[in-house]
Amino acid sequence: MTTWRWDQGRVLYFQFDVLREIAKVLVTFEGKDINDNSINDELRKSLRDHVGLPFAPDSYKINRNYSRVFQCALLAYLQGKSLYVSDICKMLAADDSYLSNCDNYMYEVFRRFRFPFPAFNEYEPQTERVYPFCAIIKYLIALREQGRSAKVSLEDICSYVIGNSCTGLEDVDFYNTLQPTTYRAEGDSVRQLREMLAFISQCSFLKVFNKELYLDVYGDDDIKHLLQNILIPNVQEPMADKGDEFCQMTKVIHQLVTPNVNTSSVNILSPLSILDKDFTEGKRVRVQHLRIERSTLLRKFYISLHPEPVCEACKEHVREKYPWVDYMLDVHHLLPLASVIKLSIEGTSLDDMVGLCPSCHKAIHDYYRKWLKSNNLDDFRSKQEAMSVYLEAVREIA
Ligand SMILES: [Zn+2]
Ligand SMILES: [Zn+2]
Repeated sequence: MTTWRWDQGRVLYFQFDVLREIAKVLVTFEGKDINDNSINDELRKSLRDHVGLPFAPDSYKINRNYSRVFQCALLAYLQGKSLYVSDICKMLAADDSYLSNCDNYMYEVFRRFRFPFPAFNEYEPQTERVYPFCAIIKYLIALREQGRSAKVSLEDICSYVIGNSCTGLEDVDFYNTLQPTTYRAEGDSVRQLREMLAFISQCSFLKVFNKELYLDVYGDDDIKHLLQNILIPNVQEPMADKGDEFCQMTKVIHQLVTPNVNTSSVNILSPLSILDKDFTEGKRVRVQHLRIERSTLLRKFYISLHPEPVCEACKEHVREKYPWVDYMLDVHHLLPLASVIKLSIEGTSLDDMVGLCPSCHKAIHDYYRKWLKSNNLDDFRSKQEAMSVYLEAVREIA
């Protein structure tokens, strides 16, 4: 049985926005010997300045503590003396590339990341290839097909997916027949698995809440799309050398095709009334934002944390005003429209979500639209800017 491994203790470095900043720095160090003391210092300074996270401790070479972040995220690998920067890294670093969208990046990781993985010591090229993300998501789809709740705990993943030696290459019918096993993760691998799930929960159709990974899809079209276009492992012959394996795994040979995301199915099931225009106008189609604000799961999580429906903007207690309506609040995402949900150690974070009554929600999006238009912008340039415009709108409402 293949052991599933991941990096450990660096979840915040795996946030999509952070990875993009790391990628921008790494491309400028392509081919350099980052084990050389002065280059290593330069790299650390550059990473700190751009990413805003400590790349500590200073007494260790960056590569000693962060090479697993770079590798697991498919960005870079120190091959011999020079830093190999992947195609994925270059695309992440570029503005307006296919991979500047978190979902598209995740799709590439799902298809490419496989065990045995060259970042880990016990790399054995002849071991059977396992595509862990494809396996987990197919198992979630199988649960949904069985009419069960599409969520898994870490224990379920061990017992059903790892314990049955799933490879991610099987079809969903296979996952429908899985029986529990006695396999349990132990020691470090528990934490590694948890952080691995937190990482993938940045994809708009996955969420982690109360230590469970949920599949958050809008309907059968989404499932069809996942199975036909996304969950198809990028199968290649194993390479004996770790560096060669990493290069092969991250090579982008074919022009990638932007997956066709069906927003019409989102509209039908939407609990919201705000206009799609808010999300799709301008150059970028902000499907991720649309999916965040319309996620029934996120709304459910929000309600479990805020049982009393109080609008954050007008402070109206909507159940007092409309006693016959159970919980009339929309969940609004405070970050720039193109941002994904913030990641915490626990997984999906609701820190940037607020509950708004439908009127305030619409008014705030109208305010955003006018503000962006008058500033000739497509989206907010930073979290701070998005937040300050939100507060401006709230002040107007109060
Ligand atoms: Zn309100
Ligand atoms: Zn909103």
